[in-house]
Amino acid sequence: MTYNDSSRANYGDDALIAAVAAVGGALTLIRCSGKGSIESASSVFTTSLKNAHEKMEKNALINAHGNTVLHGWIVKPGVKKQEIIDEVLVSVFRSPKSYTGEDSLDICCHGGLCSGAAVMAALKEAGFRDALAGEFTFRAFINGKIDLTKSESVMELVSAKTEESRRRAVLRLCGSLQTEINEIKYILVSVLAGAEIFLDYSDDEVSAEADEISGVLPNRDSALLALDRLKKLSNSWQTERIFQEGITCVIAGRPNAGKSSLFNLLLKEDRSIVTEVPGTTRDWIEARVSVEGIPVRLIDTAGLRESSDSIEKIGIQRSRRLLQEADIVLYLIDGGQGVTKEDNDEIGMINDERGEQKTNETILFLWNKCDLEKPQKSDLIKNITPVCVSAKTGEGLADLYLAINSVIFKKTSGVTFEPAAVGTARQKNLVDAACSSLEEALSLAERVEPLDFIAPLLRDAVNSLGEITGEVSTADILEEMFSKFCVGK
Ligand code: GDP
Repeated sequence: MTYNDSSRANYGDDALIAAVAAVGGALTLIRCSGKGSIESASSVFTTSLKNAHEKMEKNALINAHGNTVLHGWIVKPGVKKQEIIDEVLVSVFRSPKSYTGEDSLDICCHGGLCSGAAVMAALKEAGFRDALAGEFTFRAFINGKIDLTKSESVMELVSAKTEESRRRAVLRLCGSLQTEINEIKYILVSVLAGAEIFLDYSDDEVSAEADEISGVLPNRDSALLALDRLKKLSNSWQTERIFQEGITCVIAGRPNAGKSSLFNLLLKEDRSIVTEVPGTTRDWIEARVSVEGIPVRLIDTAGLRESSDSIEKIGIQRSRRLLQEADIVLYLIDGGQGVTKEDNDEIGMINDERGEQKTNETILFLWNKCDLEKPQKSDLIKNITPVCVSAKTGEGLADLYLAINSVIFKKTSGVTFEPAAVGTARQKNLVDAACSSLEEALSLAERVEPLDFIAPLLRDAVNSLGEITGEVSTADILEEMFSKFCVGK
């Protein structure tokens, strides 16, 4: 049966799936998976070019052991003559020892636009359909190869923006979060079991003693310990989110203060136009840089000044919006001119727009062009000594990185690195749900309420943790999650 109609495809079916997993450069990698995938692929694969025109060497793939690589050719089966499509290397994986847990193949063909597409077309003729986004990882989950925390970390790894983000994601791939969740769940299950024994005991109406103890939560200390560990996990999201999503850092200042020069210096390449004519950066330009492993979305804004030019006006309005939303603002003073009235007005306006409290902690004042003019002691901005930099010579760059880092440190409330940390908003929300069920259970226990009320809350907490690892999950949740993955993963 052919599955070319991908509109009929769904995550739960047992179709043979194929997708281009990696493209670009000299090679393209096509992944195939499904029960019978090796037999089906063998109809378009031969190890012998000579035989390809005569009789297919179909058995080469069928007889291949798992974890072996075969050299050969993808061919389009024809009535009389086989059409050769590409020379390939095929890695063979046999169930259950594969990424998906099913029989699978990785076909490495030539790169470029055409080879991969032609191999995919041949595979479709052999009965494969296009894999849905994340379908290989979905199958790995369904077949018990990985839990949901590891599945999600695969996606984190693919989209990691810095070396540090990668490092953190790989810890989850190795099971750091799964282990922590399972340990906490184990504690909660034993607390719940303790409570349920008492409930059974009182159901038997053995004695009045049972009623007396029914209000006390057995293993309360264990429950408190679990709560403490859950809170640590919940707090870890504050830092992990920054490592994944990064922070937005907007460079602002009057025209000619040196914003584009600083942007280029931080980028270490010429992306922004640097000229001596004020107002050259009419709109904003952005780039991703890494500051101590934290992905930073760096934005060079249009110079802030009154303008009659309608296009420049739009650029300035957009800059204002970015300034309001930025995690950090780098406000540049043109050191050659010193702090002007326009600077003070502008800083005042940014303060108002961002809200005073946010501004004090997240605006960094930079005295640029310090190669020309150093600031005087009196050149304080809002009582703050500016960081001296020269976008031209690179002087003061280390101090600037330090200053940015200290703002980030404050934003993460100084949360230190936790080996077990949540990596997605979904995980964080479920940890929070478990926390609040457990807190409610503990507060009922504190008020010596009956265990009948407490046990269901403990069960809710256990279920929330089960949802994180995927023990408790619905088809809808899984589809929603995996559809966010990229195709071929
Ligand atoms: P923007 O309008 O704020 O983006 O300013 P630019 O980056 O275009 O710079 C305006 C002018 O100032 C250019 O001639 C730059 O070469 C010069 N400039 C920028 N930074 C420095 C610096 O640190 N020292 C000196 N001497 N000149 C600078």
